[in-house]
Amino acid sequence: MQMRRLGRTGLEVSAIGCGGIPIFRASKSEAVKVIRHAMDKGINYFDTARGYLSGGSEERFGEAIKGRRHECYIASKSTTRTRDDMLKDIDASLKTLRMDMIDVYMCHHVISPEELGAVMKPGGAIEGLKEAQAAGKIRYIGVTGHRPEVLAKACKTGEIDALLVTFNFVNDGAATKLLPVAREMDVGVTVMKPIGGSLFQHPDLCLRWLLQYDISTICVGMWKESEVDQNVLVGENPAPLNGEESEWLEDEKRRWDRVYCRLCYTCNPCEEGVPVRDLMIADLNYRRFGLKMMMEQGFDKKIEKIESCIECDDCSVTCAYELPIRDLMLNVRKTYAPIVMTTNFGINRI
Ligand code: SF4
Ligand code: SF4
Repeated sequence: MQMRRLGRTGLEVSAIGCGGIPIFRASKSEAVKVIRHAMDKGINYFDTARGYLSGGSEERFGEAIKGRRHECYIASKSTTRTRDDMLKDIDASLKTLRMDMIDVYMCHHVISPEELGAVMKPGGAIEGLKEAQAAGKIRYIGVTGHRPEVLAKACKTGEIDALLVTFNFVNDGAATKLLPVAREMDVGVTVMKPIGGSLFQHPDLCLRWLLQYDISTICVGMWKESEVDQNVLVGENPAPLNGEESEWLEDEKRRWDRVYCRLCYTCNPCEEGVPVRDLMIADLNYRRFGLKMMMEQGFDKKIEKIESCIECDDCSVTCAYELPIRDLMLNVRKTYAPIVMTTNFGINRI
């Protein structure tokens, strides 16, 4: 497995890491087996969060690394924004993970300059992280987010050691807006959504495309041993893409460019109350995990709200990527309303 330096932390991490969301698709015992298999195969960076599966993700990692703590680095995170809440969440993570110290703890989902200001100010979450670091509860401090320009600002504060950013061959803004600053500030870059949340085909090409950049590790969501094996093969031989492969990715990029929501949270809320971003996520969840999972997560109620759409097109105008959101919303209505009406989930309300 290729090893890379995690910025100023100096930790040597595997180029392929393990992200902690999809693991919830496996039973707890299966998840533990998959995580241990990943360790056997040379993966040493595991990324989880308080919020993933309401602590269930941390619990699975805690169980899996019991007796093997020295073989891996654990990153976790919290969406809390104040010093006090951050300190409480770090204690809760330590308990759930059954550890004395977490390697990297991040301020989760910082999506705007205003939010960054809020976590950086006195009494904010970063203060809590620094106190926990001084107390020996965490080793390094990080920030996560979906907007590379906001994370670049976080790097410039000099307060963070590592970050987690959305980066893939379609959503590639991090390459120019973040990586040069991260390199300059020696901040370790870890990557999420490398395969677009399991949407894109040919994960191997997606990962090899990413590994050509100056990043530390890719947190790939995995819930089967076979997926671990496939991804590890890429980490063992991250060969540069040949002309044909690059061309294929370019074609795919053109295909997704106008329909793929980057979840950047820059569009204005819809005045008619249509939860645009939630419906984009509902669509994503349906494609990744199927109807049952989508409905269990409460998206059925959100789909109902699309009936308020007056087709004004304001959402398309404010989308930072100029996606035709109105048309995508109408497509969500056309696609999911009939499915919701004809299923047995007790949700025949549209
Ligand atoms: S097109 Fe529909 S979803 Fe978009 S802003 Fe107008 S009412 Fe809201
Ligand atoms: S709809 Fe556009 S602006 Fe809104 S989150 Fe998605 S990509 Fe970003």
